[in-house]
This record gives sequence, structure tokens and C-alpha cells, in this order.
Amino acid sequence: MKDFKFVNAKTVKEAVDVLAELGDKAKLIAGGTDVMLMIRDGKWNNLTLVNIRDIEECRGIKLDGDTVTIGALTRLSDIEHSAVLKEHAPCLWGAAQFFACPTNRHSATIGGNVGRANTVGDTLPSLLCLDATVTLASKKGEREIPMSEMLLGPGKTACEPDEMITKFTFKSQPHSAYMKFGRRRSMALSMAGSAVSIEVDDKGIVQKCRIGYGNAGPKAGRAYNAEKAMIGVDLNSDKALEETMYPAIQEDIAPRKKPRLSNWISGDYRRELIPVLTKRAARKAAFGECMLCKQEEA
Ligand SMILES: Cc1cc2nc3c(=O)[nH]c(=O)nc-3n(C[C@H](O)[C@H](O)[C@H](O)COP(=O)(O)OP(=O)(O)OC[C@H]3O[C@@H](n4cnc5c(N)ncnc54)[C@H](O)[C@@H]3O)c2cc1C
Repeated sequence: MKDFKFVNAKTVKEAVDVLAELGDKAKLIAGGTDVMLMIRDGKWNNLTLVNIRDIEECRGIKLDGDTVTIGALTRLSDIEHSAVLKEHAPCLWGAAQFFACPTNRHSATIGGNVGRANTVGDTLPSLLCLDATVTLASKKGEREIPMSEMLLGPGKTACEPDEMITKFTFKSQPHSAYMKFGRRRSMALSMAGSAVSIEVDDKGIVQKCRIGYGNAGPKAGRAYNAEKAMIGVDLNSDKALEETMYPAIQEDIAPRKKPRLSNWISGDYRRELIPVLTKRAARKAAFGECMLCKQEEA
């Protein structure tokens, strides 16, 4: 470890003042679960670490009417135990249940998960399907950006070096769910993930749908083709979904027919997996339970 300085910021103003002064010579540290690995691996050196973990104004989950606000420094363990999120954003609540392990969740923050911008990040598909707004603060003031414009590539976000994420805001979406495919139920990074927010009529015909996927490309993203293809489809019908949503989401994740390949999972397998995860997430979101998933979880 080489020559680090450490500044404790107690307010957003204190943090962004340091960022404004030092630019990319300063980096934020929240829970530190990713930052410590970057330091250990020698990727970060000779920097000032700005500790934002104790900024109270950026912590907590609030429901105001049908608007949910989550502070960037809210820990995954707070999300995991939040009755508000269980009811109003079950996709995000569900993502926290399968996130790493209790020790990690006690430190890891939602802002750090987005700040790291790793395609495997478990909160990203949910924030995308919830169509969350991200608030960024700097010395110049605040600006808002849709989550769909936040992730630019592996490890890259629209957050400038002099900015920090302060909160996420979205409308209540009780009919939403996240499906993660990993090697184990605990301490397993996602091999692929899909989050769906959906509205169906009383016959199960899809009226509205938003889909966020993870670890299916260099960055987590919205499956816009699949979202369009889902409208008017009978969610109970495997055949209808296989003919409409399956090819559409395969186009979303791999427009050049080359799905992401990683050490864990082949591109072809991922291409088959993502539509199935999306179908299960959509049914869980719409009907409360996906019987197939329930059997597999048992
Ligand atoms: C053993 C282990 C298991 C893991 N398992 C999972 C898993 O199952 N799922 C998963 O998604 N991730 C997992 N991770 C990765 C990590 O825990 C998460 O990405 C976590 O959410 C990061 O949050 P943090 O608060 O620790 O971020 P930090 O490590 O403090 O920061 C991460 C990055 O975000 C930036 N940052 C932090 N806060 C802000 C902010 N408010 N505004 C702007 N930038 C900010 C930092 O500068 C840094 O670049 C795992 C990590 C470990 C070590």
C-alpha cells in the first residue's frame, strides 16, 4: 500500500469540497468492500481517500406518498431488513437477500455498488427496472440523472470526479422482482441477473414492463427491445414468451450475436439463461410467486 491520505467527511459539503480541491487525486470510500480490494491489488495508489461512511444525511430509506428515497450510504443490510422496500420495491429488497454475506452487507452501501459500476452489481438491475433517478452533488450544486444514463461501462459512471452520489429516488413498484443466478445462495457473485417491474391485467396480459439485466454485457442495462416485446403478451404462456420476449432480450444483451463470455459462464449459456431469468422474475413480480422457482429453491 502506497502513501494514502485519509479525510473524514461528516457532511456532503465537506466531502465535495475535498473532491473539488483534489479532483481525481481524491477518491470516495463508503463501506470500503470494493475499495480495499483496489488498494490491495495496487490499482489505487497515492490518493486521498475521502471517508463518507459517517454522513448521516445520505443514509436511510423514506417513503413519501408513492415516492421512495434511498440515501447513497444506506447499507445492504438496511435494504435487506426494510419493510418499506419489501412492499414498494421487492426487486431491490430481494437483491439484498442474496447479496454476498451478512458481514459484507453490514458494510457495503448501495451508492458504492453503483459507484463501482461492476456489471455483476446486484442492485443495478433493480435500480434500472425501477427507473430510479440518481442525485449527484458537487461544490456547484446538485443534478439528477436517470439510472439508465448512469452506467457508462465497466467501472465507469456518469459521476464526475468532483461529484458524489447522494440518493436514489423512484416510484413505488410493488410488482417487481429480481432473479439472480449464482453458484451458491450466499457469497456468490451473479453469473447473470434480471429485474422486472410489471403491470398485467386480470388475465395476465402485460400492460407495462421495465427490465434491467446484469452481467450479460460489459455493463448492466435496460432491455428496451424485450420491454416492447412484452406488451400485450400473455405472461402465463411459455410459448408466447419464447416467441416474443426471448429473441428480443437476446438482441438487447448481444446485438452482434456475441454474448458476454466470462471465466464463470459461456456466452451461449448466458444467452439462454437471461430470457429464462426474465420470465421467472416477470411472473414473480406479477403473480407474487413463480412456482418453478419455488420448487428449485426448496
Ligand atoms: C467478499 C465480497 C463479496 C461480494 N459480493 C457481492 C455480491 O454478492 N453482489 C454485489 O453486487 N457485490 C458484491 N461485492 C462487491 C461490493 O461489496 C459491492 O459492490 C458494494 O456494494 C460496494 O459498496 P461499498 O460501500 O463497500 O463501496 P466502496 O468500496 O466504499 O466504493 C466502491 C466504489 O464506489 C465509489 N463510491 C462509493 N460511494 C460513492 C458515492 N456515494 N458516490 C460516488 N461514488 C461512490 C468509490 O469511490 C469506489 O470507486 C462483494 C465484495 C466482496 C469483497
